[in-house]
Amino acid sequence: MSFLDYAPAPESTALLNLRPEYGLFIDGEFTDGHGESFATISPATEKPIARVASADASDIDRAVAAARKAYEKRWSTLSGRDRGKYLFRIARLVQERARELAVAESLDNGKPIKESRDVDVPLVAAWFFYYAGWADKLDHAGLGANPRALGVAGQVIPWNFPLLMLAWKIAPALAAGNTVVLKPAETTPLTALLFAEIVQQAGLPAGVVNIVTGAGETGRALVNHTDVNKVAFTGSTAVGREIARAVAGTGKRLTLELGGKAANIVFDDAPIDQAIEGIVNGIFFNQGHVCCAGSRLLVQESIHDEVVDRLKARLSTLRVGDPLDKNTDVGAINSAEQLERIRTLSEIGEAEGAERWSPACEFPENGFWFAPTIFTNVATSHRIAREEIFGPVLSVLTFRTPAEAIAKANNTPYGLSAGIWSEKGSRILAVADKLRAGVVWANTFNRFDPASPFGGYKESGFGREGGRHGLAAYLEGGVR
Ligand code: NAD
Repeated sequence: MSFLDYAPAPESTALLNLRPEYGLFIDGEFTDGHGESFATISPATEKPIARVASADASDIDRAVAAARKAYEKRWSTLSGRDRGKYLFRIARLVQERARELAVAESLDNGKPIKESRDVDVPLVAAWFFYYAGWADKLDHAGLGANPRALGVAGQVIPWNFPLLMLAWKIAPALAAGNTVVLKPAETTPLTALLFAEIVQQAGLPAGVVNIVTGAGETGRALVNHTDVNKVAFTGSTAVGREIARAVAGTGKRLTLELGGKAANIVFDDAPIDQAIEGIVNGIFFNQGHVCCAGSRLLVQESIHDEVVDRLKARLSTLRVGDPLDKNTDVGAINSAEQLERIRTLSEIGEAEGAERWSPACEFPENGFWFAPTIFTNVATSHRIAREEIFGPVLSVLTFRTPAEAIAKANNTPYGLSAGIWSEKGSRILAVADKLRAGVVWANTFNRFDPASPFGGYKESGFGREGGRHGLAAYLEGGVR
């Protein structure tokens, strides 16, 4: 260790009061599941954290029945103001238990504690505060007078932002007057189960929120349940397609938030220092497990060499390792399966002729790790420029004119997000106008705000989460 290295600064896990086993959370109580229970492990150590129940079709039946009863007998009879009170209460409890939730998230997911502590959990609280404020103002949401809830929402979420995706789903659904059955991803169920405790603490009427754990089969049973009125899914495009087929013709409302392959466009007049930070944040935040990650860097040819050199210098300073260390910038890959996918696509990148570079990294002996990686000499036809890698891997492409940047940025089956770096406001507006992406960031990246709608075009899905638009997805007459 040179004397400029950082000493270890691990966050304590002492405040975590985890149970060795978790049941399903149905009708206000933890109960056994009829599927085979499974262990959730820490991706940084591969050590088990807790055992978690798995819901089979009969458990899903129970959960949906509890949500239906709660909707009819209780939640739909409350005023918006009373619903709002519960949501405010949840938001405050999330803040009170923020440190504990952040530690649990980093332990279960592998993301750095400084991200779960400073980004994920504060945004979770912000989402509940924001939608709590809407609960008694639905008449003023521009969706007609006295808009009605849909009923029971079945919600399925991925592992990359476990608690934040839960908040994106549950907060607008409850504010609009629906009850929910939510299934977290099988590799990251922990914070959803802690959230179930928060629901109990908040005194929410039993059955308004139900959490069912399990894998794809559990999700399928939920999505296909005949008494679900609305399906909200965030996850891969492949599963999204299957769900769209299953839901077609059933009368259920559907929103899909799927994958992405965002272009981060850097013009030669961009503030370079800021752009380098934005590029790093765009693809290495959360190990690149981000649907809206800036995974395709489009850099103007005249500054290509400078940008790549500076990126390499910056990447060499990133600290990869223990997610619970407060100095860690890049944590563990969420699962062995995801690590394999990242490795395979990176090998394909090399085989297709792109040039691969990573800084030297020392990894712990156990756990799932992948060094931050840059590919240069990437062609638009390469698989690493087309497919979502969902890992810390950046593909660098070049362009000469704004028209070429726009054409390359839009040359993707996805359309979730994009970034533009330029000093010229007029150029930013002109380019943003032509990008087929749900969110376009200007001189920043990966910024989230509960008041701002988020969602995709094309294979990135449809429907919006966040803002007034996020309410519409949970109300009769609102857009699908
Ligand atoms: P995934 O589709 O494999 O799994 C997502 C969830 O769906 C999990 O809870 C899983 O158990 C469940 N599931 C799996 N098969 C199912 C089925 N047949 N029916 C119902 N549910 C099923 O995706 P993942 O690998 O967990 O997540 C990564 C993907 O999520 C990436 O493609 C990423 O881009 C996307 N994502 C999108 C957004 C967005 O807002 N657009 C946000 C985060 C992640």
